[in-house]
Amino acid sequence: MFDGRDLCIATMHQKETFIAPVLEQALGVRCFTCSELNTDLMGTFTGEIERSGTPVEAARQKCIRAMALTGCDLAVSSEGSFGSHPVVGFIPCDEEILFFCDRKHHIEIVVRELSTKTNFAGDDVQDFEALKQFALRARFPSHGLILKDLSGRVIAKGIADWDKLSEKFNQALCIGVPVKVETDMRAHFNPTRMRVIEACAHKLVAAIKSSCPACGMPGFVVTDAEPGLPCELCHLPTRSSLKHIRTCKNCGHRNEILYPHQKQFEDPMYCDFCNP
Ligand SMILES: [Zn+2]
Ligand SMILES: [Zn+2]
Repeated sequence: MFDGRDLCIATMHQKETFIAPVLEQALGVRCFTCSELNTDLMGTFTGEIERSGTPVEAARQKCIRAMALTGCDLAVSSEGSFGSHPVVGFIPCDEEILFFCDRKHHIEIVVRELSTKTNFAGDDVQDFEALKQFALRARFPSHGLILKDLSGRVIAKGIADWDKLSEKFNQALCIGVPVKVETDMRAHFNPTRMRVIEACAHKLVAAIKSSCPACGMPGFVVTDAEPGLPCELCHLPTRSSLKHIRTCKNCGHRNEILYPHQKQFEDPMYCDFCNP
């Protein structure tokens, strides 16, 4: 279905470095990027342009634009979101989405990779020593940083060496303290994020290769989760998944996977009754 076809990777920031080899090897596609595509117009991490709509919608729009610009009928786009872990909370988390669109066969597949492997952080600093401590925790200089002045205006982004960090910090100090420092989450300044995107690409391949048992269409993936996995201690239902439900977008065929995480009970740590 995909062998020998061209596939446009609708990304900036060199994400294709980690996505293309995975897709080419598994699907036999020929990947290329579209240099005219400015995905920054659809929202930036550094906050100059606010992203509108959900991450999935933003990813879909990137694919649509890339296909319009290149005339290619096969595209993949990527979208990342950062924040607190949706279940555990307080732990910084990277959620990556890959959106696959095949216009020829009317297929759209979305996969997500949720990872706590991220340096995502931000802080207000008063002096260079505090900035240095933040930088070291954020794996600088292999990972980039952003400096903003006290009003939140970007002084510099993509800072990836100590000299530049010191120079830009002094520039920000002239405007006033505190200076805001943030991790630069753009993929080309964040190797840790690149690894999560790569893991997501493998997940995408698995989803594409999973075909519907009824009609054979690719993308027979988990579309819903049913909570209620019983707590190991009190046996009351927890919020953890008891079942995963896979649905075919083409013919509507569905099946249920009981105990999707290969366990029949949940750790009481995640039980609202035992550990409220
Ligand atoms: Zn089907
Ligand atoms: Zn319990």
